[in-house]
Amino acid sequence: MKLSNFLCGEWVEGAGEGIALHNPVTGDEVARVSSDGLDLDAALSYARMQGNSSLQAMNYAERAGLLKKISEVLSANRDRYYDIARINYGATKTDAAVDIDGAIFTLKFYARAASALGDATLLKEGSPVGLAKTEDFQGQHYLQPLSGVAVFINAFNFPSWGLWEKAAPAIVSGVPVVIKPATPTAWLTQIMVKDVIDAGILPKGALSVVCGSARELLNFVQAEDVVSFTGSAETAAMIKTHPAVVANSVRVNIEADSLNAAILGSDAIPGSDEFALAVREIVSELTTKAGQKCTAIRRIFVPSESIDALSDVLITKLGKISVGDPADEAIRMGPLVSVEQKDAALTALAQLQADSSSVFDQNSADVDQGAMLSPILLRNDHGLDAAATHDVEVFGPVATLIPYDTDDSLIAMIRRGKGSLVASLYSSDIDFITTIIPAIADLHGRLMVVDKTVGKQHTGHGNVMPSCMHGGPGRAGGGEELGGLRALTLYHRRYVVQSSPQVLAALNAKAVDINVLCQ
Ligand code: NAP
Repeated sequence: MKLSNFLCGEWVEGAGEGIALHNPVTGDEVARVSSDGLDLDAALSYARMQGNSSLQAMNYAERAGLLKKISEVLSANRDRYYDIARINYGATKTDAAVDIDGAIFTLKFYARAASALGDATLLKEGSPVGLAKTEDFQGQHYLQPLSGVAVFINAFNFPSWGLWEKAAPAIVSGVPVVIKPATPTAWLTQIMVKDVIDAGILPKGALSVVCGSARELLNFVQAEDVVSFTGSAETAAMIKTHPAVVANSVRVNIEADSLNAAILGSDAIPGSDEFALAVREIVSELTTKAGQKCTAIRRIFVPSESIDALSDVLITKLGKISVGDPADEAIRMGPLVSVEQKDAALTALAQLQADSSSVFDQNSADVDQGAMLSPILLRNDHGLDAAATHDVEVFGPVATLIPYDTDDSLIAMIRRGKGSLVASLYSSDIDFITTIIPAIADLHGRLMVVDKTVGKQHTGHGNVMPSCMHGGPGRAGGGEELGGLRALTLYHRRYVVQSSPQVLAALNAKAVDINVLCQ
């Protein structure tokens, strides 16, 4: 089966044999993709001309209505998507829920939030400011939706959520989407786009998909477009410096890799609620989606006096995780998405193991078949000198325990990660929390503080909530996504109009104040 591409309002197959997608459990081929011979220049032009103008003819609330209909189509086909997630990337039901139900939840969130923007067609920032001695000449800042196309180049680990968490704010903003999913897991993205297109919800050109490598896609981006990339830091560097991106000053949002931290305070001692909550979160982050989450915990900072106790508990808990074929519902952790990804994870793991000791590793010929990898817990006592631990992301079920003795050494080691998506603190010591947060906040997009008062309610270290910002500085890419309606700013341009109060009043009649974005 070769997956078709949807470009210029038509389903079209790429030329040649294409690239094979596999079942990571059986190794069987499940589909093929090709972008060879496709006119990607025409595809972006079509989206700009047809898709953008049709979407811009609607107001924000009407576009929010499109998201609601998309979420209904995806909900109706949910069981089929779960099957594809299992067959194409070895997802357990829990893994598939994070990707598929997470997408539907995010679409519904934006449908609801954006309906509050009503019949407005642009956004304004605050009130007019006086520019002359009298009130007759004033300035007003606006945010205008982009007149181009949003090009998404996505990572393999979230073929569903990765598309829809970006598409929701783009479509609400009236900006059409061209999605290029990562090749190994493109099937789910393609089938979801197909279902939405077949349902006739969106105007022509509003949503396109190109499967396959499509390496020339960025050659055709223009000044009015936006590129949103999720993937490795290495590819991100190529995207940012692509000649067409540089020549046209194309806006680029990057979500890259990250060495996210879990931090136990000195009050999170064995027997405390905070210790137990940290254990639960670490096990979940190591095993959900086999650790293939950009937000997964990679470094675990723990007071020296508690590290042995934490190791012991984690060894016991990880020993109970069954790894295998997710077709068996008793299996807690599935494989990595492909043998290639497992090879990449093992190569990165070898770098960590060079100066770390192994705390838990049950990989053997029995478990370690195909793309399977059991959880691996390492320990590194070299503090700031543990270079690889603070530099290398293993995109799989691997994390490292690191002891600390003082707040200063803890802060220095966390900062050594050079920018992360998220860190979670397990403590109820307000002095500790209010010391650590400001000392690391400039290098993090999200900080989650867990104590017994939020133990049952908190949304999880690795879970990205649409109402809260997702992204991180430095090696995490420097991008920002979600954060409620704040996400719309990526798809708008700020400008200022200097004129009479009458002209500004006429423009303001069609505008809604940006302050609603922060509610
Ligand atoms: P990747 O190899 O960088 O690929 C990402 C995407 O870029 C894929 O669609 C890939 O297409 C495409 N691509 C690769 N080389 C390209 C080039 N020269 N020009 C244009 N496009 C190119 O990353 P990955 O292995 O899929 O994803 C794993 C990484 O993503 C991890 O490091 C993880 O931390 C990061 N990630 C971050 C987030 C976040 O939100 N911050 C979320 C998920 C994952 P092909 O597949 O066709 O090669």
